[in-house]
Amino acid sequence: MNITFITRKKFQEFLESLCYSSIEKFTASKFAKYASIGLDDSFKLLIEHVATKELELSWELRCPNCNRVLSLNSNKDLEEYECDFCCDIFDVDENDLFPKFQVTKEFKDYLIESNKGGNSVKKTEKAITDIPDKNIPISDINIDEETKKILQEFTHSTIINVFNGGSQMNQISNSFNHSTLNNASIQSTHNSQIPIVPEEHVVELQDYINNIDDEVLRNMNDEHLKNFKESLKQHDKEMAKKYLSFIGKTIGTVSSISTIAGYLN
Ligand SMILES: [Zn+2]
Repeated sequence: MNITFITRKKFQEFLESLCYSSIEKFTASKFAKYASIGLDDSFKLLIEHVATKELELSWELRCPNCNRVLSLNSNKDLEEYECDFCCDIFDVDENDLFPKFQVTKEFKDYLIESNKGGNSVKKTEKAITDIPDKNIPISDINIDEETKKILQEFTHSTIINVFNGGSQMNQISNSFNHSTLNNASIQSTHNSQIPIVPEEHVVELQDYINNIDDEVLRNMNDEHLKNFKESLKQHDKEMAKKYLSFIGKTIGTVSSISTIAGYLN
């Protein structure tokens, strides 16, 4: 895994250029080419930004026979899926599912608003539209544990079900079940009267977030904090750490964050 500060800088450029282009959805392949990194690293980075709500993840189902994009609806039997175009009948698996990314409306509005008056963004726009985008099925991407967890959370259960029997998502649901089991056992031995993090520190962080001027940033972090509290309730330290890091990424290190992090380690 080799996501450097250069890649992160390029990612910011890439996002800004996207906002000013006509491109709606893109694949991990496009950013990989833009930043000259591997597909797996690109996917990992993009998924990280799905978790922080800068990007949205959607899934495209393609017919293995005619390669056209089909509507992915849970009313249709995914075991014997009939293509709307060529009437081919196939079992949907991970070779037929293609992850696509899109800048969220909230983040796009935020970026455009914060770039008002500047024209540095336009320069890279052409480069971005010129980069070919290649559709790559999820089966061709190697996903690490951390990414799997986030993916699990942001993927609809009907799609997760499609992967049962496939390798990638099977691993995901295994690790998911595994962590659920762990939580249950932690919970049964843990005295639920004693919170992992003293309430006052969480309140302090909540106050800090309530006072963020920027509405998008405030709402985003409010959402993360809600999930953070829920994770604490479930005694899921790993999840709590994850949400805390999302908050830390956007608002920087404030003292309550480092204090809370101390309780989670
Ligand atoms: Zn077809």
